[in-house]
Amino acid sequence: MLDTLIADIAARMATAPDRGQVARYIPELAKVSPAHFGIAVVTADGREHVAGDADLSFSIQSVSKVFALVEALQAHGERVWQRVGREPSGSAFNSIIQLELEQGRPRNPFINAGAIAVTDLIAEGNEPREGIGAILRLVRSLAGDDTINVDGAVAYSEAATGFRNAALANYMRSFGMIAGPVETTLQVYFHQCAIAMSCRQLARAGRFLMHAGRCPTSGKPIVSPERARRIAALMLTCGHYDASGEFAFEVGLPAKSGVGGGILAIAPGRASIAVWSPGLSPQGNSLLGTKALEELSRAMGWNVFNPPPAC
Ligand code: GLN
Repeated sequence: MLDTLIADIAARMATAPDRGQVARYIPELAKVSPAHFGIAVVTADGREHVAGDADLSFSIQSVSKVFALVEALQAHGERVWQRVGREPSGSAFNSIIQLELEQGRPRNPFINAGAIAVTDLIAEGNEPREGIGAILRLVRSLAGDDTINVDGAVAYSEAATGFRNAALANYMRSFGMIAGPVETTLQVYFHQCAIAMSCRQLARAGRFLMHAGRCPTSGKPIVSPERARRIAALMLTCGHYDASGEFAFEVGLPAKSGVGGGILAIAPGRASIAVWSPGLSPQGNSLLGTKALEELSRAMGWNVFNPPPAC
């Protein structure tokens, strides 16, 4: 049933005429063809269901903000919340406007300013390569795959054009909200965004969130059940920026998008899902990826307001 469903969805998405706009502000991402569509679903029993370009690597971009948040929470605990809030911003992912009004403390860890503040905690006192290494090690262990790596060309491309992110970081530094050095923090941030993964790898990396924070293979906690719940709450309310309400309305799953066109969505107790299609909506979320998740969640009855029978 699930295999047929996602094969149908992938076939429809492959020929959809309206595919959105590929991100252009990072030159390396502008080169990616909007023709791609991939989907991978890992269900609670560990089975993997894939269709389309599920094994092609793409730039995970802001999906990495979930992993950076896990890494920062593991290393610094509740201190993270002194740096970032837990409220939806209602503005664009790279907006600067709220920062002045709110004394340099970003609304949440998933807008760029908030993610840079989280990454600053990881980068603190380290060389850039150590901070990047910490995030990469976490992602590899969550996915059970040591081949996952940073796409150096994408990281370089973003560093060369990341003026807005530099502005956000410097502005937060002026409020003492990040410790800096700004250059180090930005290097780690650009590299974490440039991690390349396939849908299959990304869905595997999200398994711990479907299992209330536990590693699916060892059963050991990666984060506590409470932390897993809180991360999922932030994904639901903030994971799609100023389209988070619409995503919750249509899909009803905690999810995080990235401007590479990937989305990681979690159906708690049921599935970890990754979709990829590079064309974006005006808010910077994958257009067909979102459509595919709408169709999948509706057909399967997977949404957080419709819990699994066992719960
Ligand atoms: N690396 C991108 C940026 O900082 C991430 C944005 C995104 O995926 N929404 O602009």
